[in-house]
Amino acid sequence: MRWTGWIGVAALTALGACAQATPEQQTLNEAVAAMGGADRLQAATALTVEGEGVQYNHGQDMTPGASGQTFTVSTLQRTLDLGAVRVRTGLTRTPDFPYFQGQQPQTSVQGLDGDIAYNLLPNGDATRASAAVVHERRLDYYHHPLTLLRAALAPGATVANARTEGDARLVDVTTPDGHLFTLAVHASGDPASITHRGAHPNLGDVLISTTFADYTAVGALRLPSRVTTRIDDFTTGAFTFTSQALDGDTAVVAAPAAAAAATPPAGPPPPNVVVEQVAPGLWLMAGQSHHSALVEFADHLALIDAPQSEARTLAVIEAARALRPEKPLTRLIATHHHFDHTAGIRAAIAEGLTVVTHAGNRAFFEEMAARPHTLVPDALARTPKPLAIETFDDALVVEDAAMSMTLYHLSGNPHSDTILMAYFPRQRAIVEVDVYGPNAAVHPYAANLLEHIRTRNLRVDRIVPLHGGVVPLAALEKVVE
Ligand SMILES: [Zn+2]
Ligand SMILES: [Zn+2]
Repeated sequence: MRWTGWIGVAALTALGACAQATPEQQTLNEAVAAMGGADRLQAATALTVEGEGVQYNHGQDMTPGASGQTFTVSTLQRTLDLGAVRVRTGLTRTPDFPYFQGQQPQTSVQGLDGDIAYNLLPNGDATRASAAVVHERRLDYYHHPLTLLRAALAPGATVANARTEGDARLVDVTTPDGHLFTLAVHASGDPASITHRGAHPNLGDVLISTTFADYTAVGALRLPSRVTTRIDDFTTGAFTFTSQALDGDTAVVAAPAAAAAATPPAGPPPPNVVVEQVAPGLWLMAGQSHHSALVEFADHLALIDAPQSEARTLAVIEAARALRPEKPLTRLIATHHHFDHTAGIRAAIAEGLTVVTHAGNRAFFEEMAARPHTLVPDALARTPKPLAIETFDDALVVEDAAMSMTLYHLSGNPHSDTILMAYFPRQRAIVEVDVYGPNAAVHPYAANLLEHIRTRNLRVDRIVPLHGGVVPLAALEKVVE
């Protein structure tokens, strides 16, 4: 009886333990075990990595969705404090393509020290970033198996929704500070990826993911030595760690005094639209960094470019309507697909504007107009409208009694394969963006613009760049020759 009873209790206890290990906990436990076990994970105080890799030019490449342009990351140095949400990332990268700031190496240092997000400028100055950046870096901090699994083991965390996807097992982890991630775990137990949902101004709801590979021994733990970052299915970066160390000094992560003392900026400054008449029927909608142009036809108005943000584009549209209230604003001419020049395109669609662009941008703009923006509903999400779009291949003439404008494809331009300029024969002016800016340090795209002006026999006195001010043609000729 005694023996039976004893065995019986033992058996019940074992069953009880089994019943308590939910599929969620089982997946988490296996991941923790694969990395070295809970005790060792929880004992670690810091992780310092050095590495190299590549970054891609998301949304700014030659064609929509392309990833042919890369930045070689020659040094990556990252320190994660595991005792608090603190991280510092230093990175040096060199563009492998004609870059608007030139092809010299660029260095950046970004940090998060609790609620202080900071950037170190190349001249040594430290600046403080906004609360939105704090949020972003906090989410990024957990995109490592060590930080996320430690958080998943901490009091207040929840692990839920176990499921499988291909060979991987997935669970949703909510960290004690309330952030939700999906952790994918290989059959071996190694964490395969960490994903969260984010809001992108152009793309709306996106999945931001990091995948992990080449696990290797680092002290008492096993950690990934290769990571790949993605936004949806677009690879934004791929890095290999050449050295990794645990429990090092984290003093370097501390926010510089100047950043800690500064008031965090509330967010981007409110749009400032400065209307400047260039010629009869043609206005520059200037102010801040990214401009638009307004064109007056006999019975309607057309806007060139909806850059930077929904807020800026709505302010530009309001200023355009105030300038000529009797004529409807019906067209948005989109010069090219780059994210910074199309961040307001959905707002323009919501305002009823028909998009006019090069044929190579059509599919991309159709997708941008259709994508869900549920996390941060924008103007188009609040007032859904179908996209009206008109495209052309080489040239499009738009002419009436009041105005003549020809849109030309700048074929062969190294800035973008699908970029256009607008030519105004009566005003002897050209509106363009990015292919030439009078204030740019280098002009890798300007020769192609001048070549188009000459081979198309355009009569041009002035260039109206949507970065920088209006300049005579001679200014363009000078930087090319
Ligand atoms: Zn561009
Ligand atoms: Zn630009």
